[in-house]
Amino acid sequence: MFSFEDARAKVIEVIAARTGAPKKITATQTVDISREPSEALGRILAEDVLADRNYPPFNRSIRDGFALRAADTATPAPRLRLIGESRAGVAFNGTVGEGECVRILTGAPVPKGANAVLMHEYTRLDGHFVIPEQAAQPGQHYVLAGAEARVGEVVVPRGTRLSYAELAMAAEVGRSRFSVSRRPRVAILSTGDELIGLSDKPGPFQIRNSNNISLAAQVALAGGEPVVAGNARDDISELRARIERALEADLLILSGGVSTGKYDLVEKVLQDLGAQVFFDAVAIRPGKPAVFGWCCGKPVFGLPGNPVSTMVTFELFVAPAIEALSGHTPEPLPFFKAKLAHPVTEKGTVAHFLPARISWPTGETGGDPRVEALLWEGSGDIGAVVRANCFLVIHTSRLQLEAGEWIDVFPRWSKIQA
Ligand code: AMP
Ligand code: MG
Repeated sequence: MFSFEDARAKVIEVIAARTGAPKKITATQTVDISREPSEALGRILAEDVLADRNYPPFNRSIRDGFALRAADTATPAPRLRLIGESRAGVAFNGTVGEGECVRILTGAPVPKGANAVLMHEYTRLDGHFVIPEQAAQPGQHYVLAGAEARVGEVVVPRGTRLSYAELAMAAEVGRSRFSVSRRPRVAILSTGDELIGLSDKPGPFQIRNSNNISLAAQVALAGGEPVVAGNARDDISELRARIERALEADLLILSGGVSTGKYDLVEKVLQDLGAQVFFDAVAIRPGKPAVFGWCCGKPVFGLPGNPVSTMVTFELFVAPAIEALSGHTPEPLPFFKAKLAHPVTEKGTVAHFLPARISWPTGETGGDPRVEALLWEGSGDIGAVVRANCFLVIHTSRLQLEAGEWIDVFPRWSKIQA
């Protein structure tokens, strides 16, 4: 049985070998950030964005003060004639000569002849003269033209996920239209006789289909385009027909029907369809019976149906597949460390992902982040994940931990950011 790390690496390796992703992505579309910046958000850039000129385009002051020749401030009783002003958008046209200075504002071009900016806090005005009260160093308080980027330089490389800084960069260099990878279409097919739709009235033993909703949300957050393909009853021919239809998408996620029960038919149907299965169990709880295979030319995941198992296995195994198929190199799992608030004792030979809350001490002294597992009723307990802002990760190498130990935490970023 694979560890979750090996299973995740396997997914990334197989996707790369079979599709060339994330390097070889051909399907693209154009976005225009001057019309709707949020449309580009989270998309993967499919071309390099280059600097159209040097940045900054001129020597740019980063302080309010006076542009001058540094050497003039190092003389015995310096006194500089104020000959003009340079402000953002309106440059001083002349040259700063010996014994002269120009008032300058943040963002303004440093005039010819000057080689330093002295902050106005360190000066005194005397009519048309400025008295420096501190010596200026050559090069101080301005950014040289081209220091941030040279004309033609790649400022946002192909394959970057676009967030606010990348969009600002594109805007700065005048690229409002550029191509991004097409979002992979991800079919979502639940299985189970007990499942009903959201508008149906549940009978006493029926369950609303929440996995199709959580999976659609997770697919969208991972950069895919969710295509909800309904629910298949636990019936071989119906399951087969629905899987075949759903395989028109770039990737298929099934939920439920992957355990070893009499009505768990997903693996059998995949096998009937000639699928190659790379794993059908991973050493984790929740989520042990997770399946990953290749069927009719497409990657297929069979996720266990218990809602929390579905959520966790999606984040661990499906999210990197969607990331790669959209042209982005899958990021490592974003684990970080926090101090365990209580002892933990787990048994068995699998890693555990427990719904938990991380908190950061406030106040002047701060302190270490602290994480606490929440009470929960196991992998059917969606409410525990609602209350959680992360999962505690208990590795198979250390199933028993003391209070105060540093432990891996798997964040629910979208929730922590909100
Ligand atoms: P299974 O993996 O098919 O054995 O399902 C395990 C448990 O998860 C059962 O209690 C199911 O009712 C529940 N379950 C399966 N699929 C879904 C779904 N789409 N939405 C909500 N619960 C589900
Ligand atoms: Mg089932």
